[in-house]
Amino acid sequence: MGGELNHPQRPGRISALGRWLVPVVLALQPFALPAASFSGLVYRVAPSEDLSRVVVEVRLPPGRPLPLHAPRGRTGSIRSLEDCDAGRVAIHRNRILPGSGEACVRYSYPLHALAGRQSPQVKKDAIVSTPREWLWIPEDASGLPARIELALPATMNASVPWRPVAPNVFELPPSPGSSAAAAVFGAFRTLQVPVGGTHLRVAAVDGPELHLDSEVVRRWLATAAADVTSVGGRFPSPEVQVIVQPVRSRGDSPVPFGYVIRDGGEAVRFLVDPERPLSELEADWTATHEFSHLLLPFVRSTEKWVSEGFASYYQNVLLARRGVYSEQEAWSRFHRAFLQAARVADPPPLDALHLRNFWEVRMLLYWSGAAMALKADVALREAEGTSLDEVLGRLADCCLPSTRTWRADELFARLDDIAGVDVFLPLFGAQMREPGMPDQDALFADLGIEPVSDTSVRLTGTGRLVAVREAIMKRSN
Ligand SMILES: [Zn+2]
Repeated sequence: MGGELNHPQRPGRISALGRWLVPVVLALQPFALPAASFSGLVYRVAPSEDLSRVVVEVRLPPGRPLPLHAPRGRTGSIRSLEDCDAGRVAIHRNRILPGSGEACVRYSYPLHALAGRQSPQVKKDAIVSTPREWLWIPEDASGLPARIELALPATMNASVPWRPVAPNVFELPPSPGSSAAAAVFGAFRTLQVPVGGTHLRVAAVDGPELHLDSEVVRRWLATAAADVTSVGGRFPSPEVQVIVQPVRSRGDSPVPFGYVIRDGGEAVRFLVDPERPLSELEADWTATHEFSHLLLPFVRSTEKWVSEGFASYYQNVLLARRGVYSEQEAWSRFHRAFLQAARVADPPPLDALHLRNFWEVRMLLYWSGAAMALKADVALREAEGTSLDEVLGRLADCCLPSTRTWRADELFARLDDIAGVDVFLPLFGAQMREPGMPDQDALFADLGIEPVSDTSVRLTGTGRLVAVREAIMKRSN
């Protein structure tokens, strides 16, 4: 998908072409969007009524018969491959090779339901699949824009991460390709949840037995998205795709799972226990954490601690500002998490965290970056009269949503640039030099935070930065 448009790989060698060529004759079906009005790739995607397959037609720009591939697709699963204009089309080394000239290819591909812990079963008249299987794209499109038209049976709904430009017409932006995009087709509810100058495009997809309450889903997501809107003044990702599915939660959290996808657009998926009341959902940090990820561009996965850290920082701060946590509770949560992160045995340098077993180092992965975010926020508020909120709001104005992968040092250089002061890069440098969790004792003393046990703190009126401490947890508007 978008990730591959952005990060071209070397195309496979095209050889022994002749014996693979499959000439096909067929009738033309005109696109709803005339190709002449658009100079990039034009797709027409038509899921079948029974959700067993999708028919995809792709028209390439004249003179660009680029080989097509799909990161999770297999040519062995392709059916009815044909050239729309009765020309030649071939398959070779898991690629579709369109003919030359006005290349246009049509094929049918089975719709497979995503499965596993992150993708529980849905009711039988809907399917959650990944376009990584059935949307075949050029490996090296060199920034070629792509437009996708959905041709849906009358009663069918669709939820896709791509950028909407007209009813059922989307642009496929380049993207970092982090996690696999999800597309939902069939009978499910779509909700538009207004938030911070845009809206969330929500798909509420019931399971075979569990059903979501639309009003609860709408209000829960609106609350969490409003948390994140309050940081920079608007929600950082326009018309983000959100997919919500019901599960029974075995633990305390009514939202046992959530994650962000940046693959052909930005998206967030949640699993939520439909039997828990709205009040419990609104008191849970998961949705605020996930939406907070969108305050930063995608930072490469070897530096995941940055993105997890900033989202973890804001999950505490924003729930305190909303009144779910008292100020004391929010700082106790930081204290507890920082302590656990500091107790990770044999801590690796932060840029080697991803090489270790996730469960061994996860507290460091989530909270080392939160400690950095806290230090940056304090430094900005203390000396510069600004704040992390303000700097991230301006980052959103200049650079979000971003269609590419960033490096951490590049992100921090940009944030320093925006702040007009060197705060982030020096903190990043210091944190990279010392494996493990940075020490918080001096900072906590300055902020008037006194640990009283492993799990809780007392807030005092002494400490030169007490006013900064209070301002961080205070709602500013
Ligand atoms: Zn996260």
